[in-house]
Amino acid sequence: MSETYDFLFKFLVIGNAGTGKSCLLHQFIEKRFKDDSNHTIGVEFGSKIINVGNKYVKLQIWDTAGQERFRYATRQHFTYLLILRETYNALTNWLTDARMLASQNIVIILCGNKKDLDADREVTFLEASRFAQENELMFLETSALTGENVEEAFVQCARKILNKIESGELDPERMGSGIQYGDAALRQLRSPRRGQAESAQECGC
Ligand code: GDP
Ligand code: MG
Repeated sequence: MSETYDFLFKFLVIGNAGTGKSCLLHQFIEKRFKDDSNHTIGVEFGSKIINVGNKYVKLQIWDTAGQERFRYATRQHFTYLLILRETYNALTNWLTDARMLASQNIVIILCGNKKDLDADREVTFLEASRFAQENELMFLETSALTGENVEEAFVQCARKILNKIESGELDPERMGSGIQYGDAALRQLRSPRRGQAESAQECGC
């Protein structure tokens, strides 16, 4: 498969243990439910190139078992188990940590995972939606088991990041933005229009 893409976005999946973070990632990347109960070691999980609008975006995703990766990632993804009020209540803490440690223009999607266990839910869709709205998060209920909304969660998040890049709200060249240009975008960057906008101060070379 071709590795040509316009942008690379870094994603981090955080949330309470057992909410289905690792399964969600398996479902997104491999399109299957894989419950190998291998405990997450907090390293890069994998990557996948998706097509959003007319751009190819490579998502590089980090799975976590704790908070150790916060400092390295800026695009974030929250999961919680929608049937458990306890895990829902922990969201505020996850959110505080994420906002404190990641880049300012962080894009966050809240995933209420295990949607397939709908009959046992303790947190209503409405309640979670309100929480998301109040905290400026995107929100989807997902199921790593059936695959429902899993791809959509990542695509929606990537689309929002792209919109922010296009509107100038997010600058991929800023250090710690969590974004890199891919080959395709770099070719365009070399056009004269962008040349003078390049800032020397953040160049790591
Ligand atoms: P993590 O600790 O957040 O990485 O959670 P895991 O991905 O290891 O999943 C924890 C448990 O939840 C496992 O037993 C999974 O089989 C189960 N699980 C994960 N996602 C789903 C889901 O969408 N639906 C259901 N019914 N079970 C799930
Ligand atoms: Mg895990």
